[in-house]
Amino acid sequence: MISLILLAGGTGTRMGGPIPKQFLTLGNKPVALHSFDLFANFPEIGELIVVCAPLYQYFFSTKTKPLSFALPGERRQDSVFNGLQKCHPNASLILVHDGARPFVEASHLKTLIEAGLRVGAATLAAPVTSTIKECDEKRVVQKTLDRSKLWDIQTPQALHRDLLVKGFEEVHARKLTVTDDVSIAETIGHFVEIVAGSPRNFKLTTPFDLVVAKALLEHGAA
Ligand code: C5P
Repeated sequence: MISLILLAGGTGTRMGGPIPKQFLTLGNKPVALHSFDLFANFPEIGELIVVCAPLYQYFFSTKTKPLSFALPGERRQDSVFNGLQKCHPNASLILVHDGARPFVEASHLKTLIEAGLRVGAATLAAPVTSTIKECDEKRVVQKTLDRSKLWDIQTPQALHRDLLVKGFEEVHARKLTVTDDVSIAETIGHFVEIVAGSPRNFKLTTPFDLVVAKALLEHGAA
């Protein structure tokens, strides 16, 4: 079975306001409901686990598949760990998605699931179009990275459950902080496949991103 963990437990301080970014209104519903509704209607997904503060649980409901809730942790990875504890024991593939990415597309999700099942760890990503430089703490450029090899990593990310469980053991033992889920597989030397998605699947972080998201929804532009 495939389980999906939807992360909506962050406080989103970079957006500025009192409401976490994943619960701001976008179109006719909160940001996190855009991807939730896609997942709730996606046949291959067997159950949904939403990680969010109890206050926001009422936003989420579905008649199509089992839904459970987990409490947020201090860091993103702690929220994923809490969500993992709520997954059905028969879950073989775990998908993790940022609730702050409203525009994930069904065709990319399908390709990601195929890759995840096949190789054990896979993530959606978009090619990097900017020039990226690495600087020291005084903002002196140390090197310019070869952008033809760089990918902007997105979610959903897909991991075999066993791999995620084993990876978390290593992450906890070494007290590591990771900012995405396939990093947990990398920690134990597991291969990770990139599945090319779309820049549309961006993460809302700043007020500017919300303006872009509203425009995309209104005009349907890619
Ligand atoms: O902070 P960041 O933008 O990386 O968060 C990505 C996603 O993870 C967001 O949807 C956020 O709500 C979620 N998150 C969480 N628990 C945390 C931190 C972030 O569920 N402790």
